[in-house]
Amino acid sequence: MARRTGAHSPWRRPVPRVHALAATGLALTLGLALGLWPEAHSLPEQAPPLAEPVPEPLALAPKRTPEAAPALTPESVTAAALAAPDPAPEAPAWRSLTVRSGESLARIFQREGISARALAALMASGALAKRLADLRPGDQLELREEDGTLLGFRFRPSQLETLTFSRASGDASRFEAERELRSPTVTERTAQVVIEDALFLAAQKAGLDDRLALALAEIFQWDIDFVLDIRKGDRFELLYEEQSLDGDVIGTGAILAARFVNRGEIFEAVRYEDPAGNGSYYTPEGRSLRKAFLRAPVQFTRISSNFNLRRKHPLWNTARPHRGIDYAAPTGTPVVAAGDGKVVKAARNAPSGNYVVLQHGERYQTKYLHLSRFAKSLKAGQRVKQGQVIGYVGSTGWATGPHLHYEFLVGGAHQNPRTVALPKADPIAPEAKAAFTRLALARLAALPSAQRFALNGPNPAPHESP
Ligand SMILES: [Zn+2]
Repeated sequence: MARRTGAHSPWRRPVPRVHALAATGLALTLGLALGLWPEAHSLPEQAPPLAEPVPEPLALAPKRTPEAAPALTPESVTAAALAAPDPAPEAPAWRSLTVRSGESLARIFQREGISARALAALMASGALAKRLADLRPGDQLELREEDGTLLGFRFRPSQLETLTFSRASGDASRFEAERELRSPTVTERTAQVVIEDALFLAAQKAGLDDRLALALAEIFQWDIDFVLDIRKGDRFELLYEEQSLDGDVIGTGAILAARFVNRGEIFEAVRYEDPAGNGSYYTPEGRSLRKAFLRAPVQFTRISSNFNLRRKHPLWNTARPHRGIDYAAPTGTPVVAAGDGKVVKAARNAPSGNYVVLQHGERYQTKYLHLSRFAKSLKAGQRVKQGQVIGYVGSTGWATGPHLHYEFLVGGAHQNPRTVALPKADPIAPEAKAAFTRLALARLAALPSAQRFALNGPNPAPHESP
């Protein structure tokens, strides 16, 4: 294991990729609203960090291990051969390189003088090879070659995951792929932060990473407007997971409990995972913090046409109701599922272009029209989560410009998506209530100022002023 983090592997990705992926459409929307990412639609990981927010310990220093010691005297080679299980200790060393902007694996191999045949063999090594299509600028690769022949190849999508491709024993024309997952050590940490100006600045000053601040804003986004409602003196407290590997902090995990005091009003959230492992946030009483639907399923620039059941058509002067809202947005802007549900249709017709219909429980349906394309592998029958990308804004069908036409139906009747009363997401299931309450009390009690709040009643003192 230690060999894989040897001196030739200066992996520097600060946060495991799973974290970036966990920030789905919701986070994207919220981040854009907060101006966190200046370039629209870029993923958090690709975006330039806000004033270098990553605290020093997150950058893993390359570690030296005995195996990686560079002195190659005959004695040391012999010693290594005796000590290491590797049958070919004199094999060429691993060499690391960095993916540059716009580079594919084919391009990199070309640059490194590795044959197209080796690339083809590598890509034919199975499902893990598909991950190599996902390379991003800054990704670190390792390869081992001799006289232009590729012997081995490594890609580490995160600090926790390594994909290794080696020549198959017995058939050197093939590669075999192997995936190695490491589990980080998880430690529970707390933080207490008073806001002077803005949430993200305060979090940075306290040494918390942006991902944590974003997760916090996401938890309370239904109750607090983080752009307009934040005041000097607001504060928050967190109980969160910190992940480390070999003693180095590599990132943060989930927020387990949070308390936010906004203008003297206290909001509390406790994370609870259902048996399937899906984590959601609830009030100490077990009510969901989120609504069952997003108000708008796209980051829009303006509303280009409002909901109007009595609209007269401008040309023919006949009634032609507009049963949804048109959100103007650039082609390619992600469109997300407004709520958890199931894909009823992902199809195309003349007036609607590419469209998606989602069913949410018995009563609710949402429709998304004029998409330029669907999310990869979206198909009827599939379950989707709130905030999951289902397609991209376009102008297919009868549309004069790129926009999302969005419809919201309750019991089969069209409602105005801007004004319809949105239901809360489901509370804690009755059978899980007792376990949740125990967990909530324990987690809230772990927050820094717990002793200043009454923890016995269902409502912690709501008149505490900061
Ligand atoms: Zn429309």
